[in-house]
Amino acid sequence: MSLIEQAGRICQQKGERFTPIRQKVFGLLEASDGARTAYELLDELAKDMPNARPPTIYRALEFLQQMGFVHRLDSRNAFVLCTHFEDHHAAQFLVCDQCGSVAEIHMPAVMKSLRTEAVNLGFDVHSETVELHGLCKDCH
Ligand SMILES: [Zn+2]
Ligand SMILES: [Zn+2]
Repeated sequence: MSLIEQAGRICQQKGERFTPIRQKVFGLLEASDGARTAYELLDELAKDMPNARPPTIYRALEFLQQMGFVHRLDSRNAFVLCTHFEDHHAAQFLVCDQCGSVAEIHMPAVMKSLRTEAVNLGFDVHSETVELHGLCKDCH
C-alpha cells in the first residue's frame, strides 16, 4: 500500500475527510526532497488549483499535522512528510545547513529522557521537535 493510501485509510478509520486538497498537499510533500515552506507548496498547488490561497494551504497543513502525517521543522518554518505515521510521535531531525536535506531519525528513548527531565524541572512542554543542524554525509 502506498503512503497516501495508508493515510487515506487512517482518515477513514478516524472519520476524517481526506479531501482532494489535503491529498494534493500530501503528494507534494511526498515528492519533495527535504522540507517545504507553505509558500513553496502554494506555488506548486497553484499550477493545478489556481484558486488556492494561503489559508487553503495552512488549513491543509494543519490537518496533516494533526493526523501525524506531517512534521513541522520549526527552524525553517517548513514541513516534512513523515513516512511512519501509524503511531503519533515527536520528530527528531538531522538538518543539513548546506544542501537543505532533512532526515527524520527515531530516538524514542532520548525523547523519554527529555520529557522526564522537563517534568522534573516543572516545565510544561508544548512542542517536542528536536533538530540537529550540521552537514550531511554528501556535504562534509
Ligand atoms: Zn515522523
Ligand atoms: Zn547536505
